[in-house]
Amino acid sequence: VIPQKKVKQWKYTTCNYCSTGCAIQIGLDAAGRVVTSRGHAGADVNRGKLCIKGILEHELFDSPGRGAEPLWRDKLHQPWQPVDWDTALDHTAARIKAIQAEHGRDSFAVVSTGQLLTEEFYTLGKLVRGCIGTNNYDGNTTLCMASAVSGYKRSFGADGPPGCYDDFEHTDCLIAFGSNLPEQHPIIYWRLKEARERRRFPMIVVDPRVTMLAQFADIHLPITPGTDCVLINAMLHVIFAEGLEDRAYLQAHTNNLPQLQALVAEYDPQSAQHICGIDEDMIRTVARLYAGAGTAMSIWTMGINQSTHGSDGVANINNLNLVTGNIGKPGGTSLSITGQCNAMGTREWSSCSGLPGYRQLENPEHRRQVADYWGVDPDFFPERRGLTQTDIFPAIETGAIKGLWLVATNPLTSMPNQPRIRKAMEKLDFLVVQDVYEDVETNQYSHVYLPAAVWAEKEGCHTNTERRVNLVRNVVQPYGNAKPDFWIFRKLAERFTGNSGISFAETPEQTFEEMKQLSTGAGRTLDISGMTYANIEAARGIQWPFTQAHAQRPATDPDYLKGEPRLYTDGRFQTPDGKANLIPVRFVNNNECPDDDYPFWLNSGRVVEHFHTRTRTGKIGNCNKFSPTPYMEMNPDAAAEQGVQHQQYVRLTSRRGDAVVMVQLTHRVPRNMVFIPFHFYDCVNRLTLGLLDPYSRQPAFKQSAVRIEAVDQQ
Ligand code: SF4
Repeated sequence: VIPQKKVKQWKYTTCNYCSTGCAIQIGLDAAGRVVTSRGHAGADVNRGKLCIKGILEHELFDSPGRGAEPLWRDKLHQPWQPVDWDTALDHTAARIKAIQAEHGRDSFAVVSTGQLLTEEFYTLGKLVRGCIGTNNYDGNTTLCMASAVSGYKRSFGADGPPGCYDDFEHTDCLIAFGSNLPEQHPIIYWRLKEARERRRFPMIVVDPRVTMLAQFADIHLPITPGTDCVLINAMLHVIFAEGLEDRAYLQAHTNNLPQLQALVAEYDPQSAQHICGIDEDMIRTVARLYAGAGTAMSIWTMGINQSTHGSDGVANINNLNLVTGNIGKPGGTSLSITGQCNAMGTREWSSCSGLPGYRQLENPEHRRQVADYWGVDPDFFPERRGLTQTDIFPAIETGAIKGLWLVATNPLTSMPNQPRIRKAMEKLDFLVVQDVYEDVETNQYSHVYLPAAVWAEKEGCHTNTERRVNLVRNVVQPYGNAKPDFWIFRKLAERFTGNSGISFAETPEQTFEEMKQLSTGAGRTLDISGMTYANIEAARGIQWPFTQAHAQRPATDPDYLKGEPRLYTDGRFQTPDGKANLIPVRFVNNNECPDDDYPFWLNSGRVVEHFHTRTRTGKIGNCNKFSPTPYMEMNPDAAAEQGVQHQQYVRLTSRRGDAVVMVQLTHRVPRNMVFIPFHFYDCVNRLTLGLLDPYSRQPAFKQSAVRIEAVDQQ
């Protein structure tokens, strides 16, 4: 029951879980205590709605396990000692410098998250690239969005989802690849559902499992795991064979058409069906439906990204939309549904894979622009990207990396092959964990713990899935002696600036003004120069690009305080010749497939009540009440063959390790697959292999092989 009567004041902010970007109002009572949350009715994104996580988000402020003081210990497994901030930061800076002096700058690594605010990402990037100077710096977005980034860059020459939620209102056909919106992004699903109720367009869902989204689909394609490229190639085969392509668009706006046609000619539906598991007639039906629609759009999430073919899968979805002329028009788009609330912010501004504002380390002009702006020597920057998160842990194993700083990420639960990650952690000379919660699992291996403020205890921006910059307003003061991540980065930077001329803005808003200067320039789509905190709040979020010209529109203009909803509307892309690249994608079966020893596919995913590794939702009463423990979905026919009963415990074993979990019998999964939510510690990621995509270095979480045996419960 929401105690609305107690509320004396509502404060505006933005949800800090998924990338939908819902505007929230936090209710405070007469004493200034937080008592409830509600959706902001005036926000275009969520129009007053919230999912269960957003409705309960106010419970985070005083949730159990929060860190109130910095902690220090000399050796692992010793008791912690509370220390003051100066001691903790002095010690951290001294250890980083000592490791780098002895083993080289790149022997210290930094891994952050998609959960921070954009100004914090920018400040961390400035600290890491401009002061600490390690090239082994990444975000945990490598576990979720790296394949989308890579695929967009290969196809369009630049990252950035080209569409928006409003495309649901215009499309005539939608295909969802490996995306379970009702559980992952409930409010985006609500927008899609409302649009389909108004305009009854067909929805096709490609997923090996009967997800909630698949339940609502007109056509469900239960594809063999990891074979999306084969399905799309076969669809393209039909489209070209039947002359359904948009020839004029292809000729005017794309490269490599002959190469793509030659490759997909090899993927006739009759042979493709034996690889992807979708009947040839159904492949033809879906291809005709998509290509024959006035406008059509594709969405995808982790089913595509978390694969050894992730980047190729994204590129092939882009191929499908380019071939049918569905880019940059209302209802015609290729829309990656981003994962974390500010995964986009880390892509745009964190400098993990490059330099701020989508600049590239490989580009000397980009290095010079940022070096001049920051007042550092351009030679201080590396000339190419360093290791991703998924390569940092193997480098710890080999001894190449000696120290690590983890910011709001929990690899002991989130990374594949957990037994290997645990061994790597034990090898570190120095680990700093900066997190809201001191009981986060990874903290068991740290030497210094820095307590961070949670979400609306601080201020800054998020960018959501549709490139909308939203504002997180500070609602209450941080818990105990926890500090905003922005404050922690600035204070650590003071201990590194040394002889360089680099300086750091004092507030997030000043930092935002600094970022705006770096967002402008010829051909830049990421232009936020017209935004201010005030106009973002007034509009409850503004999409980029939003230039100074956009900001000057009068209040009477229907597009007042609106950025551009779509990219590439003129058919010009960010490639050297302005044309999009069609990318022929050949299927290679390189997954760990089921065999006689390990006969089941292991699939993992999400439930609506939890976010990531439950560091926050695991502390919220009702989220835990509805989803308290891990479980394994198993097909009843397969269970009968194995002698397994509903709600019985079973042991799953893979080539990496084992896990014990309770069985839930359901026809959602096919006979040769089991599914486990990934949120829980010491569970599914004890089993996963996590082979990497060659372009994005993103792990294949959803394609491992396991065997199952009943556990004796006596
Ligand atoms: Fe928050 Fe996402 Fe739920 Fe919206 S849909 S309330 S952004 S978790």
